[in-house]
Amino acid sequence: MSGMEEIFGINVFNDSVMRQRLPKETYKALHKTIDDGSRLDPQVASVVANAMKDWALEKGATHYTHWFQPLNSVTAEKHDAFISPMPGGAVIQEFSGKELVRGEADASSLPNGGLRSTFEARGYTAWDPTSYAFIKDHVLCIPTAYCSYGGEALDKKTPLLRSMEALNRQAVRILHLFGRLDATRVTPTVGPEQEYFLVDKDLFDRRSDLIFSGRTLFGAKPPKGQELGDHFFGTIQTRVQAFMADLNEELWKLGVLAKTEHNETAPAQHEMAPIYTIANVACDHNQITMEMMKKVALRHNLVCLLSEKPFEGVNGSGKHNNWSMFTNTGYNLLDPGDSPHESAQFLCFLTSVIKAVDENQDLLRASVASAGNDHRLGGCEAPPAIISIFLGDELTEILEALEAGAAYSGREKTDMTVGVHALPKFPRDTTDRNRTSPFAFTGNKFEFRSLGSSASVSDANVVLNTIVAESLRQFADELEQADDFRTALHDLIVRTIHDHKRIIFNGNNYSSEWVREAERRGLQILPSTVDALPCYVAEKNIRLFEIHHVLSESELRSRKDIGLDSYAKMINIEAETMLMMARRQILPAVLKYAGNLSSAVISVRDAGSPLTKCPELLSGLCAKIDQLKDCVDILAEILSAKPDSDVPESSARYMHDRVLPAMAALRACADHLEQITDRSCWPFPTYDELLFSIQ
Ligand code: ADP
Ligand code: MG
Repeated sequence: MSGMEEIFGINVFNDSVMRQRLPKETYKALHKTIDDGSRLDPQVASVVANAMKDWALEKGATHYTHWFQPLNSVTAEKHDAFISPMPGGAVIQEFSGKELVRGEADASSLPNGGLRSTFEARGYTAWDPTSYAFIKDHVLCIPTAYCSYGGEALDKKTPLLRSMEALNRQAVRILHLFGRLDATRVTPTVGPEQEYFLVDKDLFDRRSDLIFSGRTLFGAKPPKGQELGDHFFGTIQTRVQAFMADLNEELWKLGVLAKTEHNETAPAQHEMAPIYTIANVACDHNQITMEMMKKVALRHNLVCLLSEKPFEGVNGSGKHNNWSMFTNTGYNLLDPGDSPHESAQFLCFLTSVIKAVDENQDLLRASVASAGNDHRLGGCEAPPAIISIFLGDELTEILEALEAGAAYSGREKTDMTVGVHALPKFPRDTTDRNRTSPFAFTGNKFEFRSLGSSASVSDANVVLNTIVAESLRQFADELEQADDFRTALHDLIVRTIHDHKRIIFNGNNYSSEWVREAERRGLQILPSTVDALPCYVAEKNIRLFEIHHVLSESELRSRKDIGLDSYAKMINIEAETMLMMARRQILPAVLKYAGNLSSAVISVRDAGSPLTKCPELLSGLCAKIDQLKDCVDILAEILSAKPDSDVPESSARYMHDRVLPAMAALRACADHLEQITDRSCWPFPTYDELLFSIQ
């Protein structure tokens, strides 16, 4: 591998390339757009486009694309060559400012949730200059937002950028109240930890469920799972190490700050965490990371599974979304600080998050809802579908003391008045942190742990930014009116703790007592995607997103509908795949084995041995085969009776209530058969091979 410093960012049109290649004035004008979102002059855009094109051609690019993130959680690109005809049959390579800044995308097949009818299918893409352009496979990729001609967001980036703006507006108001007039911009930062599985490609190719749904729909538990805890942080297998080295190199070239890599809890499970960056770039980089993981795995004859629950019985994969807010002066607003002034400001931002999470549990739950993630949330391996906040004992005690107006009796006995006293030192919780909490404060950031591994991080961060913006808006409205800022702030913080402390829970979120306790506290329990997604269009949420200009009512409706529609479609694909595998692979295989077994029993008997127990084996097997046939018929019947409905809620609800249980029954029966069938007859690779074959 080449030196990391030499390869880092070599395929990115980043700040140092811009500084080198752009005239000083152009560079300054572009920076102004990047730093404070001012409009880009077309003249400037055309100089930038030309420099970008020259740079890309030198690097061997032949095409450019407006790279965007439609509503199906993947990325989309349509390549155009840098080619313009010249008189006389020649061509030149051209790229105009207009082509850089804005593109047209006739993407009538991309999900739009009713926002666009096909006769007006055109949408347009608009350059996001805050996320650097990069070259991938000889194509210059320009990160863009994607909207309809009416300006409605048809992608994941547009609302993310709008939510960052909303948070910025409100956070700056608060900072100015604290006298921090030098802070003119606040940006959310995100560091998403990405979990994934690797399986051997030869084995993958023999399983239709992995091919069509990205997860196993059948498979008996092998004798060993993750119970010994010997995979987590274990020595990385040679083949996996080679994959990781290759992946890092690809990511570094694209300017992704790939930092940490390790084996995760389940066998064949791994994780990559980058260094955090601004939210929209983190989101772009996470999309690149997922794409590269899949591509690079193939070079090693591996397949990277990003599905949330590839294997029953061992942990699934998520994406821990570490989130904080930084000022343009480099200050982390969730850092407790040392002085009384910093402590007061920290408490203000901390309680704004507590209030936001308590008041918007439904939105946070909805933002991570998908068919795949439903198998994971609440499975005693991942945070439950109930949202709560972990603060750690010390910080919780400090808040309790503040609320009670009492002395904090932690390590150092301190009386606390906001703005007069500094917070007592509480340990930055690193090793003993509560891993069961969906939303944990980890020293200077919050970690939202409910995200699924395959999802874009956009949805969760759109919600986080917007709900915190709303808390801060209410705080700023109140504090701006106050005669005495310090007293008003103290009262506000104490009242917020009092009103929202029910959301704080430092205990074991996996326990059944927590579910009862959460009910008692009146927290929202939204077990499935079908329960969660309709929350997007609750009256309070429509108002919230509209106040902050993040999503309009029709944009929210489209997102809810697309989510429910994908949910129903995903389960339909899984059910069809199960039927195919059961009818065309499992049934023939077990019947063949039953035939072999009965012939063997007869011939052994004929040879004079009584074999008293083996006929039981045969009758047990045959009873299960009959049961399997029944399960197949039931699932097929339920699936064919699914309502032909245009209402996404009804289809999704039917899939959840009727189809999922029939799939589970079929699986249980097939998995039992797997355990009593001759291994050589079983028609596809089993869990022990899939999970333990990579050395
Ligand atoms: P863990 O023990 O969970 O791996 P780390 O401190 O290594 O904790 O952080 C995990 C992720 O959190 C990394 O991606 C890191 O860059 C990110 N992170 C750290 N500080 C912040 C911050 N202030 N804002 C957003 N993400 C952060
Ligand atoms: Mg973490």
